[in-house]
Formats: sequence, structure tokens, C-alpha cells
Amino acid sequence: MSSARSVSPALSPAHLCDRPVSPSHRPPKEDYDRPAREIAPLHYTDLLPFNILGGPETREFLLRVAEVSIDYIRETFDRHAKILDFHQPEQLKEVLDLEIPAKPMVLEQVIADCMDALKYQVKTGHPRFMNQLSCGTEVVSLAGEWVTAAANTNMFTYEIAPVFILMEKVTMRHMREVIGYKAGDSILAPGGSISNLYAALAARHKMFPEYKKKGLMALPGQLVMFTSLHSHYSLMGAAAAMGLGTDNLIEVPVDEKGHMLPSELDRLIQEEKGKGKVPFFVCATAGTTVMGAFDPLHAIADVCEKHKLWFHVDAAWGGGVLLSKNQRHKMAGVERSNSITWNPHKLMGTLLQCSTVHFQEDGLLISCNQMCADYLFQQDKPYDVNYDTGDKVIQCGRHNDIFKLWLLWRSKGDEGFEKHIDHLFDMTAYLVQRMKQHPDKFELLNDEPECTNVCFWYVPHRLRTMKAGPERHKILGEIQPILKGRMMTAGTLMIGYQPLDHHPNFFRNIISSQAVRREDIDFMLEELDRLGYDL
Ligand SMILES: *Cc1c(COP(=O)(O)O)cnc(C)c1O
Repeated sequence: MSSARSVSPALSPAHLCDRPVSPSHRPPKEDYDRPAREIAPLHYTDLLPFNILGGPETREFLLRVAEVSIDYIRETFDRHAKILDFHQPEQLKEVLDLEIPAKPMVLEQVIADCMDALKYQVKTGHPRFMNQLSCGTEVVSLAGEWVTAAANTNMFTYEIAPVFILMEKVTMRHMREVIGYKAGDSILAPGGSISNLYAALAARHKMFPEYKKKGLMALPGQLVMFTSLHSHYSLMGAAAAMGLGTDNLIEVPVDEKGHMLPSELDRLIQEEKGKGKVPFFVCATAGTTVMGAFDPLHAIADVCEKHKLWFHVDAAWGGGVLLSKNQRHKMAGVERSNSITWNPHKLMGTLLQCSTVHFQEDGLLISCNQMCADYLFQQDKPYDVNYDTGDKVIQCGRHNDIFKLWLLWRSKGDEGFEKHIDHLFDMTAYLVQRMKQHPDKFELLNDEPECTNVCFWYVPHRLRTMKAGPERHKILGEIQPILKGRMMTAGTLMIGYQPLDHHPNFFRNIISSQAVRREDIDFMLEELDRLGYDL
């Protein structure tokens, strides 16, 4: 982008030019350059805009806060630093002063508050933080978030977010091209759960446009939707929020690797129709939350076509594989879907939060959600009001989640993102390979992970000779949470655990951070054995 300082004449036609700002409203030029006064005794009233001459102090204050963040980032990537300093809530309340004061506090205290806030924070960007689908701190994305905060705008109209709206358009079109949609529409939503809700709302609107005005009575019967047994719980949330009720979210059985069974989907659709219910929406999962399984999209698309149902793909977790030639075959058939949820804040490492939902058909989002608020979406604005995105969503204001994604993508390019994804999968393959070298210590639940989820039980010494079977698994299921507690106390490693179906508690290791290297995986295996050997 050009960094032209002066406004080009084209942008300032005479009729748009207001009178120049009166010089008396400007601080004297030399004020910008004078050294800041000492921050320690100052208050917020010494900063802009309260003190119009507070430019140097404002800069100094913000630089100090930026330094606090930068120190934190450096420690995040320091392998010798702990991931967390765990305290029980009662202890933490004692060491922190969180009360809201009656009188203003000095800025030095405000800076100390920033430091304290980070002191006990879990370093989610640490190379040994494997706990969440959103791990890792991408520095360029962080820079984007800083700039976003400075711009502090709302994404509902072009009027107040012109550049960010255009960025959103370009980036969303690029993502749709990667997906394989020929046209369509997209929106950024506050998380994958809400993105899934948008998809289901659009599906219902497409089939029953009367619903928007007339409500439930406009429907010919009880709507039902379908998703796999291993899908994300947000589908249940959508069924509840949309007035279907969770009983009308039908869970389709999965095979032993966690893939939805298309034949079962077909059978269940017919069964529900037979009961007089009205199927309208099928959700396939691309990268299930626990096992990382990719549902067979072509086979599910066939079933949806046969029954004329909306086909949604929840790729909140797995969507990033589309950026890699080596991995994208796992989502073959995605181009046949009607909609897809894809969270850049997961595999793509964009800072929280950044979630997108894409539609094959243009115009549905607006027709489904538009309420035409006169005070925001005037139709006689001095620009093409199709650039106003605010009426496509059920929110009013919308946070700017695009800039940190756009900036990250600019910095990496498509090629950099391909390397990014391939790195995560290389590290996962290395982890699996290393675990297979020690089958006595690590029992894999799925020895060929499809995403970067590696599900396993750590086996302590005393159980290594015990006969395999439900009794041994039961004990293993009791041991994993104790090991997790030890990890948190040691502060050296974080991995999540959960039960699934008939499986008792097991660990789900997630590699979703560019910081992870082979040495971290070697460390992880040794640390698990150090902390858990005697359990
Ligand atoms: C994480 C996840 C979601 C929810 O995304 P949020 O951004 O946390 O709301 C939905 N579906 C799948 C498969 C996920 O992994």
C-alpha cells in the first residue's frame, strides 16, 4: 500500500472539504517533540484527550504498555520459562488487587496492573502448550490486533470502516476460492459456534422464507437437523437457540475412527421423514474436536442431494488443511457444500477470535438477517450501500476480526501458509512416530491421526505389565486427570483430556502452534514419564 502523506486531490473534492481545523485547536508543533514528563505521578487526565498537550506522555505511556506486552511475548517463547504459575481461585484473589477504586489511580499503577494481569496468565503461545485448538501467538497477527484496537471501529458500515470492509471482501473471496466456491458470500462471526448457527439459520430461511416474519407457525412440521455423534456441541446450541429443541438434532453414528456413516445418515433421514418430521440441514465435520476425524464429504453430499437437504461443513478446526496441497484431499467434496465454517483462529494461528462462515449462494445472509434499521443502513448514502455488512448478521455492532488475519496472510502469502500447515502435520507425524517407539508408555487411541489431534493414554509403570482390557482402561481413565494436575502444578506442559463414547479419560494433544519443534515433542514425552511414572 502506498504511504502517501498528503491527501490526494481526488479524495478531497472541494464540495467535501470542510473548513480547515482552526490552528487554536492544535497543540503547538514543538509539543510533540518535547520529552515526556515522568509517568509515575501522572493520571489519566494528563493524557490525550483530557490534556490536549499530553502527546509526549500519551506516547510514553503506550510505549511502556507495549513493552509489557513485548516482555510477555518474549517469555512466552522462552522454553525455560513456565507455561503457568497455577493458583487456586481463592489464592489468586489474595495476591491480586482487583477492586474498582473510588478515586483515580496513577498511571504507574495502571502499568503495574497490566503486568500483574499477565503474570498469572497461562502462556497459550508457549511451545509446550498443547491444550487447546487455538494455541500459539503469531507475532504479525498480534501486531494486527494492536492496530485494530487503535482504529477501534465497528464493522457494520463502510461509512466508518472503509478499509477494513474492503479487506474483508478481498480475504473472504480468497477463502471462497480456496474452498472451491464459484461465487457466494461470507461473514466473520464471533466464533465457530455462531458461524454454525448462521449456516443453520440460512438453511432454514432458504427452505422456509416465511419463517422470518411468521415464526414457527409458518413451518409445515417439526424441523430436524443431522450431525455426527462426534460433532461439536455448538450444533446442539443451534438446535436449542433456533427453537427446534436438542431432541431434534439427530446424531448420526460414527465408525471407530470417528467418521460419520453416510448410510446411517440416509437411514436416519428416512426414519425421521417416516415420523412426519421435516429434515432440512445436515452438518458434516471436517476435523472433529476430539479425534480430528474428517467426515466423508462426497458421500454425505450425495445423501444431501438425494434428499434435497442443505449441506453444511463444520471445518472450524480442520479448515486450515485446505491451504496445503498435501492435506487438502481430506476435504475433497467441500466445494459441493452449501456452507462452511472455518476458524482462522485454530489451525491458521490467527489471534482470537477469528471465525468465518461461507455460503455458496450470494444474497442469503442479507435476506435472512436483514432488519433495515433506518438509523444505520440508510439506502440513500453517498456510496454503494452493498458495502455495508451490518445487516447480514444478527448482531448490531461487529468487532474487526479481519485485520489480524489479513495482515498475517499478507506476511506469509499462500506459500507461507502452506508451510505453516505442513509444519503442524510434520510435528504431529513426529509425535506419533516417537510414541510408537514406546508402546509400553503411550497407548494411542487412534494411531493414524487425520488432523493434529493425537489421542493417547499415558501408562504409568505399574500398569505396563497389566493385561489389556476394560479394567486397565478404567484405571488409566482415573490416572490421566491426576497427571494433568501434576502438569499444571509443575507448569511445564499443558495437554487436555476428556472421555469419549465408551473410552474413559484420555489425553488429546493438539499441535496448533508454529513454535512447536521436535525438541518440544521429545521434552513432552520425557516430562509425561517424569510426572506420571509412579502413578
Ligand atoms: C472449535 C470448534 C467449534 C466452535 O468454535 P468456537 O470458535 O470455539 O465457537 C465448532 N466446531 C468445531 C468442529 C470446533 O472444533
